[in-house]
Amino acid sequence: MTTIQILDDRLISQIAAGEVVERPASVVKELVENAIDAGARSIRVELEAGGKRSIRVVDDGLGMDRSDALLAFDRHATSKISSFDDLQGVGSLGFRGEALAAIAAVARVELVTATEPGDGHRIRIDGGHIRSAEPTAHPRGTSIEVRSLFFNVPARRKFLKTVRTELRRATEVVQGYALSRPEIGFSLSHEGRTLLEAAPAGDDLEAARRRIGELFGAPAAQNLVDFCQQGPGGERLWGFVGDRKQGRGRRIFTFVNRRLLRDRTVMAAFYRTVRETWRSEDFPALFLFMDIPPAEVDVNVHPQKAEVRFRDGRFFGRLSSCLREALERARGEEPAPLAETTSLPGALLAWQGLGQRSGSPFGGSAGRVGSSEVRELDGSLSSEPAGKLADVVFAPLERSTVPLSGRSGEPRPFRLLGQYKGTLILLEGPDGLYLIDQHVAHERVLYERFRCQLVETVVRSQRLLEPILLELAPAEALRLAELASDLERLGFSLSEMSGNVVAITATPAVLTPGLAEEMLASLASEPGDREEAAEDLKGRLLEALAASQSCRTAVKMHHPLSAEEMESLVAELFAAEQPFACPHGRPIVLKMADIELERRFGRR
Ligand code: ADP
Ligand code: MG
Repeated sequence: MTTIQILDDRLISQIAAGEVVERPASVVKELVENAIDAGARSIRVELEAGGKRSIRVVDDGLGMDRSDALLAFDRHATSKISSFDDLQGVGSLGFRGEALAAIAAVARVELVTATEPGDGHRIRIDGGHIRSAEPTAHPRGTSIEVRSLFFNVPARRKFLKTVRTELRRATEVVQGYALSRPEIGFSLSHEGRTLLEAAPAGDDLEAARRRIGELFGAPAAQNLVDFCQQGPGGERLWGFVGDRKQGRGRRIFTFVNRRLLRDRTVMAAFYRTVRETWRSEDFPALFLFMDIPPAEVDVNVHPQKAEVRFRDGRFFGRLSSCLREALERARGEEPAPLAETTSLPGALLAWQGLGQRSGSPFGGSAGRVGSSEVRELDGSLSSEPAGKLADVVFAPLERSTVPLSGRSGEPRPFRLLGQYKGTLILLEGPDGLYLIDQHVAHERVLYERFRCQLVETVVRSQRLLEPILLELAPAEALRLAELASDLERLGFSLSEMSGNVVAITATPAVLTPGLAEEMLASLASEPGDREEAAEDLKGRLLEALAASQSCRTAVKMHHPLSAEEMESLVAELFAAEQPFACPHGRPIVLKMADIELERRFGRR
C-alpha cells in the first residue's frame, strides 16, 4: 500500500530549484538576466570559490521598492508578463518568476535594492525563509548576494565540480552576456582579481566586434568575417565566423533575441554547414545572433531556457544558407563541390582537354586510353544525343586500373586518367570525374603515416631557454590551469604569471615551440569538460606534430608524377582514414558528377 501525500511548499520549491539552479553558473545567468531586464547600464559580477561560496551581482537598473523586493522571492512572481498573450511575444529574458524563488530556496540570499538613491531596502532570506527586511541607504539599482549555494541540499552540493571548473562555466556565462550586450558595461572578478572588464560600447556590428576583441584579444576579433542577413520571416541573422587560420579556436556563442543559448538544432545546422562547405571537422569560431520576431520563436520549452523552438520550419534553411555564404567568404574560395553550376565552366575545360592529353603518362598503353575515350565519347555524342555519360563503359586497361579499396576493403572501380598541369590527378569513377590535389593528398597520406608511428613514441620534454608567454582570456587561463597536470605528463610545463599570462617553460621535445604554443592556445579556447579535454590530449599532440611534419615533406604542386607514383599515392589516399580533407581542412578530392555533366551538356 502506498500513501499519497501533498509535499510541503519548501520541498516543492527545492525540487523546482533543481531545474533552474544546477550550479553557480546558472545562478550567475539568472541574476545577470534580471539585471539586463532591469535596464542596467553596468553589471558587476563578483565570485568566491568559483561561485560556490559566494556570487554577487550588482546592477544600476531600475531597482525595486519594498513590497516588490519581498514579492520577488515568491514562486511565479514576475513583473514581466501578466497574460498568456504576453508570453507569446515576450521580449524580456525572464518571465517565469521562478529564478529568485528557486535560488532563495537553496542558498542564503541578501538583496539590497533601491528605486531612488537613498531609499533602499535590505532583505535576507535563508533557504526560502525571510529572516529580515530593513531600510538602508543604497544607490539606484540592485545588488544580490547568493552565499553557500546548496548549503541545505548536500546531495546537490556534492555534484559541484572544482572551483576552477565552476569558475570557468560562470565566466563563460558572463562572456556570453557581455557579447550579447555591447552597450552594457560588464566586469567579473574572482576573489578580488579582475577577470574581465568591458566598457559600454555602441549597439552595432562594429561595437560587437570591439567587444569580442575586449574579451578574446584584438587579433582574434580582426580575423572574423562578419555577416548580416534580413530574412523573409522578419528575422535578422548576423554575427561573425572565424577564418581557417584560427583553426580550432572553438569559441561558439549563439543567441536568440540576445538570449545566450546553445540550441541543439542550431548547433547541428552549423556543424553540418561547416562540414559541407569546408569539408572539414575543424569548426571555426562562431558568434551568431538570431534576432527573431518574438511571436516566431518559443523560448518556453526548456527549464533553463537553453533551447528554443522556431515556429517557421523553413528558418533552418535560411540559417544554413546564411552561414554557408559567410563560411565561403571566410575561406576566400568557391565551394568545393564542382557540382555547383557557378564553378563548372572552368573545370569543364580541363575535362574536355583530357581526351588528347591523357596519353603521355602511360607509355605504351596510353594511346589506347586516350583514343578509346575520345572515340566512345564522340560516338555517343553523335549517334545518340540523349545518351547518358553514365552508360559509357570502357574496357579497363592493365596499367591504368588503380587497385583501390577503402577502409571497408571493398575495391573501388577507379581508373587513372592522368595528371593535369603537374598538379591534379584525374580519375574516372563510377559516377563521375574525380580531381585529386596531389600535394594535399600526399600531405594527408604522410600525416596518417606519422600518426601511426607516433602512437608508440614516448614523450620526451625539452626545457625552453626562453619561456613562451601566452596571453589568454580569463576563461582560457583557467582552462589551461585545469589541464596543467595532464599536460605535464605529455612533457609540457606551465607556470602562471601575473594576470592572465601563462608561461610555457617546457614542451614535448618533438614539437617546435611555435607548434606547442599554437596547440596550447587552441586547447585553452575550447569549451567543454576538463575530463573530455584531458582524454583528447595525446591525440592533439600527435595531430599537431603530424600536421606540421607532413606539410613540410609533401610533394609540391607542378611536379610531374609517373603513373606508378600516382597510382600508389591514390591507392594510399583512398585507404586513409580521412581521404577527403587535408589536416588543415582543405579539400583533397573534387568530384564532377556525371549527372551534373549531363545536365550541363543538355542530356537531361
Ligand atoms: P523573472 O525574471 O522570470 O520575472 P525572477 O524570479 O528572476 O523572475 O525575478 C522576479 C522579479 O523580481 C522580476 O520580474 C523583477 O520584477 C524583479 N527583479 C529581479 N531582479 C531584479 C533586478 N536586478 N532589478 C530589478 N528588479 C528585479
Ligand atoms: Mg529572472
